[in-house]
Amino acid sequence: MTLSTISSPRPFAYPQPASALHCGEVSLEALAKLHGTPLYVYSADQILERLTLFQQAFANRDHLVCYSIKVNSALAIVKLLTSRGAGVDIVSGGELERVLAAAPEAVGRVVFSGVGKTAAEIDLALTAGILQFNVESAAELELLATRAAKLRKKARFALRVNPDVFAETHPYISTGLREHKFGVDIRQALAIYKSAAGNRWLEAYGVSFHIGSQIRAAEPFGAAMERVSKLLRQLQRAGIALQTVDVGGGLGIDYHAGSFDAAAKVREYAAAVESALGAFEGRLLLEPGRFLVAQAGALLARVLYVKRNGRKTFVITDAAMNDLIRPALYQAYHEIVPVRPRERKPRIVDVVGPICESGDFFAHDRKLPPVEPGDLVAILDAGAYGMAQSSNYNTRLRPAEVLVEGAQTRLIRRRETIADLLAPEVF
Ligand SMILES: *Cc1c(COP(=O)(O)O)cnc(C)c1O
Repeated sequence: MTLSTISSPRPFAYPQPASALHCGEVSLEALAKLHGTPLYVYSADQILERLTLFQQAFANRDHLVCYSIKVNSALAIVKLLTSRGAGVDIVSGGELERVLAAAPEAVGRVVFSGVGKTAAEIDLALTAGILQFNVESAAELELLATRAAKLRKKARFALRVNPDVFAETHPYISTGLREHKFGVDIRQALAIYKSAAGNRWLEAYGVSFHIGSQIRAAEPFGAAMERVSKLLRQLQRAGIALQTVDVGGGLGIDYHAGSFDAAAKVREYAAAVESALGAFEGRLLLEPGRFLVAQAGALLARVLYVKRNGRKTFVITDAAMNDLIRPALYQAYHEIVPVRPRERKPRIVDVVGPICESGDFFAHDRKLPPVEPGDLVAILDAGAYGMAQSSNYNTRLRPAEVLVEGAQTRLIRRRETIADLLAPEVF
């Protein structure tokens, strides 16, 4: 493993050839000693850098970046992003509670997506005074109208339309085709907007779409935007003028070690959206998630055992699929690097966790510098859909999380205890 294998878009690097891997100015060895492993480590600096890339790319138009909180819902990260002007995209009442806890002043910048909002969740959001509901069906719009009338609070809504655009990504995270459960068929949208026009508790405020996640090319976003622009013109002719267009999230990163120019990616994405948006003069809403936080984070783990079974070598770490499920769930690739590389010939190994499932792996047949029990490894690009999708499977305590800001480190979530886990149970 050479130093160049950790490519520039990540905040993790070896400051000197013989030193341990650092996050910014902070040594991961020191963090492991202080907080134990497995440990999630995030760079606040990179998260803010990525937010700035979006804000700069759309600087010429009225826009709001609404961080998709489901991706990494740490309160400290929500606070960090909203303190720099970001709004938040939520998909549940629980996520709204997170915004109310960490950044109540940002509640007017919240958009609420999701196909299955309950009456209680709608009431919570109406009372809190969020920016807009991204409504995913005619039935949901009806429920929203009922709840708004009951609470005597006018609801601003955007229909989430399904533009029927194919985006090359993993099938589980592709959402923009007519066969998916998301949004309303774009051909029915005009009729639904018209039907809401007479209701004094509903304000047709915007239109939204979200075609999927980990989308690497800019074209699908442009294609979806073009279809939505056509709808905007139809709406205008019908006398319905919207204030917002919400283009969702979905911009992907490069999980492999190749070079990746984040700034260029965002500019390319912005150009595709802008050129298809046409003359719309309202506010553009963006819901990036992964792009803001994925590469800012790593999962730090300690090697417990190295064992050979037949021709295979297994590196068994103290982190497992309950801590980071992406490899098991999406066959996702994550770069893995030793925190202190040894100067010996690389080996082909499987990196696995202790859980009794063959799906409990981080890498298969991966070329890694030799590691020994007690060594630390960093699983990179784990800031998005990592801790957020973690569980207590096998009654494992979920990891602690730390946020690195320059030379400072903050524990933003302590490691769980057995008492935390057993508390809700009755026997
Ligand atoms: C998940 C999701 C996002 C964020 O997607 P990323 O690929 O992480 O950018 C944005 N909007 C909605 C509605 C989502 O469901």
